[in-house]
Amino acid sequence: MDFRSYIRVIPDFPQPGIRFKDITTLLKDGAAYKAAIDELAQFARELQADVIAGPEARGFVVGAPLAYTLGLGFVPIRKSGKLPYKSIKADYSLEYGKDALAVHVDAIQPGQRVLIADDLLATGGTITTTINLVEQLGGKVVGAAFFIELTYLDGRQKLGDIPVKSLVQY
Ligand code: IMP
Repeated sequence: MDFRSYIRVIPDFPQPGIRFKDITTLLKDGAAYKAAIDELAQFARELQADVIAGPEARGFVVGAPLAYTLGLGFVPIRKSGKLPYKSIKADYSLEYGKDALAVHVDAIQPGQRVLIADDLLATGGTITTTINLVEQLGGKVVGAAFFIELTYLDGRQKLGDIPVKSLVQY
């Protein structure tokens, strides 16, 4: 499927100079959304993932249906201050801004094979922070799956040997 044709590019959002990739136009199309998740699910199967983790908020939109499709659990990596139970936290910077992510201390068991999912790989800051949290809990990150990759920002290089799958590249 030509996933690119389902993604809308918005110039100068949320700041001048940023060309925002809007995935809502893909998500609202049932066939395109399903095909996108199914393709990422095949990648997760090949990597023999035990569990899917995704960062708030669009990582939930990719990671949760992926987990459901595979019959696996889903671990939400949340913005700091939202989780009710004992958590660990890591600071990070975005393509435009700063934030912190957190995860419950018992969300991942040591040795579990974790596939990380998000909508978009830009600088890789969000994903390296997610990897950091998963690894602190003893999880093994076996891959990272995205709808979109901004190859000119070279986020993939920050992930080292971790296999990366993206459906559309800019
Ligand atoms: P990174 O941390 O620089 O790799 O940025 C990736 C994160 O920023 C993802 O969680 C995305 O949801 C968000 N993001 C950055 N640029 C865009 C965009 O153009 N469209 C949608 N989300 C974006």
